[in-house]
Amino acid sequence: MAPSESHTGLRLAMRALCQQFPESYWRELDQQRAYPEAFVHTLMEAGYLGALIPREYGGRGMSLVEASIILEEINRSGGNAGPCHAQMYTMGTLLRHGSQAQKQAYLPKIASGELRLQAFGVTEPEAGTDTTSITTTAVRQGNRYVVNGRKIYISRVQHSDLMILLARTTPLDHVKKKSEGLSVFLVDLRAALGHGLTMKPIRVMINNETNELLFDRVEVPAENLIGEEGHGFRYILDGMNAERILIAAECIGDGRWFVERATQRARERHVFGRPIGQNQGIQFPIAQAYIRVEAADLMRLRAAELFDRGEPCGPEANMAKLLAADASWEAANVAMQTYGGYGLAVDYDIERKFRETRLYQVAPISTNLILAYVGEHVLGLPRSY
Ligand SMILES: Cc1cc2nc3c(=O)[nH]c(=O)nc-3n(C[C@H](O)[C@H](O)[C@H](O)COP(=O)(O)OP(=O)(O)OC[C@H]3O[C@@H](n4cnc5c(N)ncnc54)[C@H](O)[C@@H]3O)c2cc1C
Repeated sequence: MAPSESHTGLRLAMRALCQQFPESYWRELDQQRAYPEAFVHTLMEAGYLGALIPREYGGRGMSLVEASIILEEINRSGGNAGPCHAQMYTMGTLLRHGSQAQKQAYLPKIASGELRLQAFGVTEPEAGTDTTSITTTAVRQGNRYVVNGRKIYISRVQHSDLMILLARTTPLDHVKKKSEGLSVFLVDLRAALGHGLTMKPIRVMINNETNELLFDRVEVPAENLIGEEGHGFRYILDGMNAERILIAAECIGDGRWFVERATQRARERHVFGRPIGQNQGIQFPIAQAYIRVEAADLMRLRAAELFDRGEPCGPEANMAKLLAADASWEAANVAMQTYGGYGLAVDYDIERKFRETRLYQVAPISTNLILAYVGEHVLGLPRSY
C-alpha cells in the first residue's frame, strides 16, 4: 500500500470483493456497453452502497473518508465506480433536506437495495454548465407538480428507481436572483416513464449509460418536493463538496492503477536488451505521475476529514477534484506511452481506463469551473462569468 493509505481493513475487504470482478469482467461490459449488474448487486449486499446512510435508516453510517476509499478501491482494481457512485452522493440531498417522512419512506429501502437512487437530473441542452439558466419547469397544480422540459446526459436512468430532479418552480422574471425559484424533487422513475417521461439513450466514449430525457406534463406528487420550494439550487450546491471528494477518490484509484501497471510493464518489458524502465525517458514520467497521485491524495484526505468534522471544505474539495483528475489523466498518458502499441490494444485495459479517466476533466464538474471557483471564492478575484 502507498504511504498515505489508511483504513487497511476496509481496503483489504474491498480488494477481496473487487477480486471477484477481474479486469476481463469490466472489459466485456465495456465492449457490450452493459451495466455491471452483478458487481452492483455484490456491492449492495456487502452494504457498501449504503455506506453514507446513517445506521438508524439501515445504512453503514460510514464517514466520507471511508466512502471515498470504497470508490477508490473499485477504480484501483481496474473497475469503474461510475455506474454506481451516484447513490452515495445523491442520497445526501434526501438525507440533509428531506422531511422525516421522506427519509423514513426511502432511506431504509435504498440502504437495503430494494430501491436504487442512481439518477440525478440537472444538466440541460441549452443551459449546460450555467445551471441556474435551466428551463425545465415544475408547476404546482393541487396536490402535484406538472413537469415539462428536457435534460441531457442523465446517467443510470435505466438502472434506477428514483431520480433527484432540479426544475424551475418560479419563472426567472419573478425572482431577484437566478439561483432562486429552483426546486428539487424525488421522481419515481417507474411511475414517470411511459407517463409523460421519455428517454433516449446517448452512446458515449465510455461504458456509462446516459440519456436524454423529455418531460411532457409529467406529474410528480407534491409530497415528493424535497425541502422548501424555491431553495433547490442551494440544496444541490450543498451536495457538491461530497461529490467532488468522492470523484477525487475515484481519480486517485485510477491514478494508482495506471502507475502500478506502468511500473510493472516498465520492469518486465525488455527492448534493446534491457528493461524499458531503465531508460529515464520511461522511468521518470512514471515517478512524476506517482508523485502527483500521492500529492493529490493528501488533498483528498484533507478535504474528506474536514467534511467529516462538519467544517467548511469547499476550497479543499474543489482542489482535491482538480488535482486528482489531473493526476489520473497524467498517469493515464504515462501508462499509454509505457505500453507503446500494446496500450491501444483492448486486451490490456489501458485504453479502456484511459477513456474512463478522461471523463473527470469534464464531468461531473469541468476543470474550468473549479479554477473559476478558486479564483473567485478563494483568491477574491472578480467573477469571470
Ligand atoms: C458521461 C457523462 C455523464 C453525465 N452524467 C450526468 C448526470 O447524471 N446528471 C447530470 O445532470 N449531468 C450529467 N452529465 C453532464 C455534465 O455534468 C456536463 O456535461 C458538464 O456539467 C458540462 O456541461 P456541458 O456539457 O453542457 O458543457 P458546456 O457548459 O457547454 O461547457 C463546455 C466547455 O466550456 C467550458 N465553460 C463553460 N462556461 C465557462 C466559463 N464561464 N468559464 C470557463 N469555461 C467555461 C466548460 O468548462 C466546458 O469545458 C454527464 C456528462 C457526461 C459526459
